[in-house]
Amino acid sequence: SVPLSFFAGIGGASRRGVLIKGANYLETLAAVDTVVFDKTGTLTKGVFEVSAVHPEKLDERQLLHLAAHVERFSSHPIAASLKAAYPDEADDCRVEEAEEIAGQGIRARVNGKTVCVGNSRMMERIGAAWRECSHAGTGTVIHVAVQGVYAGHIIIEDVIKEHAAEAIAGLRENGVRKLVMLTGDARPVAEYVAGRLGLDLVYSELLPAGKVDRVEQLLAEKKGSRGRLAFVGDGINDAPVLSRSDVGIAMGALGSDAAIEAADVVLMDDDPMQIVAAQRIARRTMRIVR
Ligand code: ADP
Ligand code: MG
Repeated sequence: SVPLSFFAGIGGASRRGVLIKGANYLETLAAVDTVVFDKTGTLTKGVFEVSAVHPEKLDERQLLHLAAHVERFSSHPIAASLKAAYPDEADDCRVEEAEEIAGQGIRARVNGKTVCVGNSRMMERIGAAWRECSHAGTGTVIHVAVQGVYAGHIIIEDVIKEHAAEAIAGLRENGVRKLVMLTGDARPVAEYVAGRLGLDLVYSELLPAGKVDRVEQLLAEKKGSRGRLAFVGDGINDAPVLSRSDVGIAMGALGSDAAIEAADVVLMDDDPMQIVAAQRIARRTMRIVR
């Protein structure tokens, strides 16, 4: 009967580590023809390595040290990487009043001085005269300012997930026609990743609200069509866009509680092939139901 097939589909998915929050999402997943991905932690591992340090003030060690201290208060994948680059050392740094600014970075007071760690948008907002070394390439550039004065930048490199290309191919085989990437990261990095994976569209330098705008625009373009839109994110800053999509998919391993709450489908680990598997299960279920 109809309900039994839905239960079987949801049960089968859960055995593969895909949590589907309701039978209606099986139907939506089966009809997805547009998949919108977040970049960091979704298509890329979200595990960055420091590849260069370019101080303007201070020395390399001090710049890394400052960034790592401020990042202690962030759960962004960038934070873990900067903390790893400067392992905790006994020192007398007093860090307080940390505040994270979604899509930009984090600010805190370190020994009474305001330190900002984030992207160029953040530097512009506080009026710090940032500049980048010309060979930043495809690295993500993290700027540091102390008391509003530019102190230099750190370049960190992420890698594309092992199964990302295979997942893209699998989705196309499933009949997905449009593959899109959204990111708060800079354009050169975004275009490099999208190019390597052969995505159809890429939007970079977006704030969380900008990601929602893009998804709304894509939804408006689809109006009247039967195809549905899925958004896949690691959850950091993604709750609004997860709720706005026809089906919001959160990757569980790095996902925040807010994202797991906002998502319709939760992937237990962060392998993008799980998206392909989830859609296959959904399609099979709908064929039985109809
Ligand atoms: P993505 O869209 O790639 O998942 P986010 O929207 O989470 O990225 O972040 C966008 C950008 O904001 C990052 O590429 C980085 O430049 C900056 N940023 C966000 N959080 C932090 C942080 N904790 N420390 C430094 N920079 C950050
Ligand atoms: Mg993200």
